[in-house]
Amino acid sequence: MGAPADGIPASLVETLRHAQSVAVLTGSGISAESGVPTFRNAQTGLWARYDPMDLATPEAFARDPRLVWEWYAWRRGLVEGAAPNSGHEALAELERHVPEFVLITQNVDGLHQRAGSQRVIELHGNIMRSKCSLEAVILEPGEDDTDVPPSCPRCGASLRPDVVWFGEMLPQETLEAAFEAARSCDLFLSIGTSSLVQPAASLPFEALHGRVAVVEVNPDETPLTPHAEYALRGRAGEVLPALVGAVYG
Ligand code: NAD
Repeated sequence: MGAPADGIPASLVETLRHAQSVAVLTGSGISAESGVPTFRNAQTGLWARYDPMDLATPEAFARDPRLVWEWYAWRRGLVEGAAPNSGHEALAELERHVPEFVLITQNVDGLHQRAGSQRVIELHGNIMRSKCSLEAVILEPGEDDTDVPPSCPRCGASLRPDVVWFGEMLPQETLEAAFEAARSCDLFLSIGTSSLVQPAASLPFEALHGRVAVVEVNPDETPLTPHAEYALRGRAGEVLPALVGAVYG
């Protein structure tokens, strides 16, 4: 079923009002309105000629750690200068109403937590943290030295951003918690994601497999669209406040 940004179907409002357990998956689209670009949007300025798929990989880091760190320094600056938008805020509000709520995000920008979301599963890590490329040492934001690339305070090896790069495995426990949330919820929302990056793209299908209704919020069609019970065509920053407002306003 389709709906314009401000036309939330009444049956969805009723379903959400009675939902006891909601799982939400977000992708970079929800942060686009905060000024953090998605990977599939052209990069700007200095970075316009680079494809993120060629920078966010272990191979790129092995080949040219300075280039990869410079790109991450630019992206960290974008994230630091960004603020959560009305889409992030609507999800934080939704969490306050639903008895069991899990927010699974592919985003590494921490904007959900800054909007007030509590139960957040960060599938792909967090761009503001660093980790040692050799051992299990994590550095919180601001703890890195200023060298490029910065080095591990314990063993001296290069630090890397604490994110999951293309071609890398996700932490098993994190992934299991996300799949469990998709299986056990009674409504699943997929927001601002192209539904192309695995394994995150399988989460709504896990929900569908258990006959859970799936809602998609995206201005564009994705491979999930034909399977979604509700495909709300529009921007997350407009659709989500309208949805949450229709249920609890
Ligand atoms: P993607 O770039 O593949 O897709 C973004 C999706 O968002 C598209 O389908 C697009 O139509 C949709 N979109 C754009 N503007 C929107 C809006 N205002 N409201 C709702 N939807 C909108 O992103 P992805 O699916 O998250 O996968 C790419 C990978 O890149 C992820 O693994 C993620 O870790 C990483 N990434 C993260 C950030 C971030 O943390 N903000 C930014 C870029 C990339």
